[in-house]
Amino acid sequence: MGSVVDAANKEATESAHINKKVTVVFVLGGPGSGKGTQCANIVKHFGYTHLSAGDLLRAEQNSGSENGAMIKNVIKEGRIVPSEVTVKLLQRAMEQSANDKFLIDGFPRNQENRAAQENRAAFESVIGIEPEFVLFFDCSEEEMQKRILNRNQGREDDNMETIRKRFRTYIESSLPVIEYYNSKGKVRKIDATKPVEEVFEAVKDVFAPLNDKVAY
Ligand code: UDP
Ligand code: MG
Repeated sequence: MGSVVDAANKEATESAHINKKVTVVFVLGGPGSGKGTQCANIVKHFGYTHLSAGDLLRAEQNSGSENGAMIKNVIKEGRIVPSEVTVKLLQRAMEQSANDKFLIDGFPRNQENRAAQENRAAFESVIGIEPEFVLFFDCSEEEMQKRILNRNQGREDDNMETIRKRFRTYIESSLPVIEYYNSKGKVRKIDATKPVEEVFEAVKDVFAPLNDKVAY
């Protein structure tokens, strides 16, 4: 019931601009490089809101959305969901948050994602924002594989067959995005093969100078 009002609200939400000034940091790195773990630390210390594109897609898949089957299949195959789906989810999450500082984890993952987030005509001001910088977790494939196989989160893509495909997608599609931002001087590279605490020390050095309310 109330479907007309619901539809109107949905429309308003989807077409709304973000009319606050937001800071966005992209967090990139291979599967199992520690993006999610370190984002949780950054949230605690520096007051950002963590938006994992992968988590948003999994939630969308489980919500019974019309895109559910497509998302499930793409994730299983280690490929990349089309931008229009992912961007909408990120946009909605940013609009629904009261915060103005966001860590966008695992996006943009290919040049199509990146170009879409730069396309102001298509995506208005929300994802069209240039990232403040790109936090890049550089980790050996051997270490990433070990972490994924040990994490036991019940994910359908954490099996050897899909892991191989994800590594391939990362090298072929995601590394060029990191190279693009590197050529613009935006990449802050972290040695992510080290233990969690040591990695976070390096992460803090990146965030602390920007932060007015340092809390550590
Ligand atoms: N994914 C995607 N677009 C995104 C983020 C994730 O298509 O913007 C899909 C992709 O198939 C990826 C999977 O979701 O392999 C899991 O992503 P997540 O970031 O959760 O995995 P991680 O790299 O952190 O292990
Ligand atoms: Mg993750």
